[in-house]
Amino acid sequence: MTPTRTTLENLTFDNGFTQKLPCDPETANTRHQVTRACYSRVNPTPGKAPKLVAFSREAARLLDLEENTCQSDLFTQIFTGNMLLKGMDPFAMCYGGHQFGSWAGQLGDGRAINLGEILNQRNTRWMLQLKGAGPTPYSRTADGLAVLRSSIREFLCSEAMFHLGVPTTRALSLTLTGEKVERDMLYDGHLRLEPGAVVCRISPSFTRFGNFQILAARRENDLLKSLMDYTIETDFPHLVPLSQDSYALWFREVCEKTMTMVIHWMRVGFVHGVMNTDNMSILGLTIDYGPYGWLEDYTPDWTPNTTDAAGRRYAFKNQPQIALWNLGQLANAILPVVGHPEPLQEALDNTMTFFHKGQDDMMAKKLGFKQFEPATDRALTTELLGILESAETDYTLFFRGLSLLEISKKPSENQLPAFIKKAFYDPHQITPAYVNRLNAWMKTYGKRLGQDQVSHEEKKKQMNRVNPNYILRNYLAQTAIEKAEKNDFSGIWELLDVMRTPYDEQPDRKVFSAKRPEWARHKPGCSMLSCSS
Ligand code: AMP
Ligand code: MG
Repeated sequence: MTPTRTTLENLTFDNGFTQKLPCDPETANTRHQVTRACYSRVNPTPGKAPKLVAFSREAARLLDLEENTCQSDLFTQIFTGNMLLKGMDPFAMCYGGHQFGSWAGQLGDGRAINLGEILNQRNTRWMLQLKGAGPTPYSRTADGLAVLRSSIREFLCSEAMFHLGVPTTRALSLTLTGEKVERDMLYDGHLRLEPGAVVCRISPSFTRFGNFQILAARRENDLLKSLMDYTIETDFPHLVPLSQDSYALWFREVCEKTMTMVIHWMRVGFVHGVMNTDNMSILGLTIDYGPYGWLEDYTPDWTPNTTDAAGRRYAFKNQPQIALWNLGQLANAILPVVGHPEPLQEALDNTMTFFHKGQDDMMAKKLGFKQFEPATDRALTTELLGILESAETDYTLFFRGLSLLEISKKPSENQLPAFIKKAFYDPHQITPAYVNRLNAWMKTYGKRLGQDQVSHEEKKKQMNRVNPNYILRNYLAQTAIEKAEKNDFSGIWELLDVMRTPYDEQPDRKVFSAKRPEWARHKPGCSMLSCSS
């Protein structure tokens, strides 16, 4: 049977969240504390002159929408928040969260408005959410809007992460509202009017750890149970029928999904930048692309977020521990419904074991081994990361280049292979002692590879499936942003296309795999980002 052609008008809505969970009785769109409810109904604010910037054809396909539909005026109107389709039931979610380790009380969708849930032709559920379409009851002191630069970053990175194989929410579209939005990008007193933009994100669910936390903090245990039951029934259907044991099984799964996501981040060199509990998806998806960044030189202590520069709470190397801490907060929140702390504690105890095993397996894959052999590989990986840290070395280029190493060829004693030299940022750091150390490591590494008895070609193929050739380098996104602010969106489309096949060699796009140029070393937007968006 050929599926019926899906147009915007015949999308099938099935709004479980608003139908099954309690709504804020206050209907006015005013900032307020929302108690005894999981969400508030609120309409998007129409933009003055909506204009399409870009869309993702792969995300559109998840909704059974074809490319020409995405190019229609109706599409632009809907996904900027200017029109609603029959069946949409717009709302903003109530959640709280720990920000930088401290409880912040009610946060909520301050500039996100869910339009409704779609069931596609394969019966998969997708929540549509506009980010930047105006204020909601949760907007606190802010305006509910988003600017073009941060929206480009969210749009491109969501799709790049998907193609890299990292669990993530998706981005359907990016539009301009035609309004100007005032922002102080570096928080240094320099206000600037920037183009307002809206991203339509899609995800099976946008529920965060903080949705449970706010109900627990208010001791609304009946609602807490309703939200837990709803989440399990909707997003973890294999745990149904529900019993008292289901909650611990569910929590264990959330722990594993969260850690799996973080291991992928460590594999591709992604730093989220704001791992507050309100930015942690219950599905273990990367969510809320704000001041994120990609490791260029391997610096485990690096954070892209200027707000975090002093504490480095969310630095690259801290992400697993922070994920665990956040899971601990989720455990505290759901405890009143689970009843006993023991199964939650047990799941938390197992989480770091799960992480370490996953991290080892991931490193083994990055190095081209069949599997991680602790006896040899622990020392080998530790020494390698020490070497990478000792001279500024591009994380992505190094691992990608390493696949070219042929163990049958004898390395030259005091020269490094060209593919590794390409990864260095500062040739002055490459001292004879450094060359000796790296050569010694490569000798041991070559011997270890030999044990696996896999052909060079086969090993190379396997390594190139986990070590990307292309990542959304900070300066590349910034270059596309600067062009787009001058009304040229070609850089966005081009990056979207490059990131479609990040593990391939794209011969005419070698420049996108090059290391960060020197001009971008300290440039705002390239090496430092603020939360201002
Ligand atoms: P974030 O740090 O982006 O995760 O945001 C933390 C909280 O602030 C969330 O509740 C957001 O919805 C809210 N927020 C961030 N930016 C804005 C904005 N421009 N307008 C309204 N609320 C915002
Ligand atoms: Mg957020």
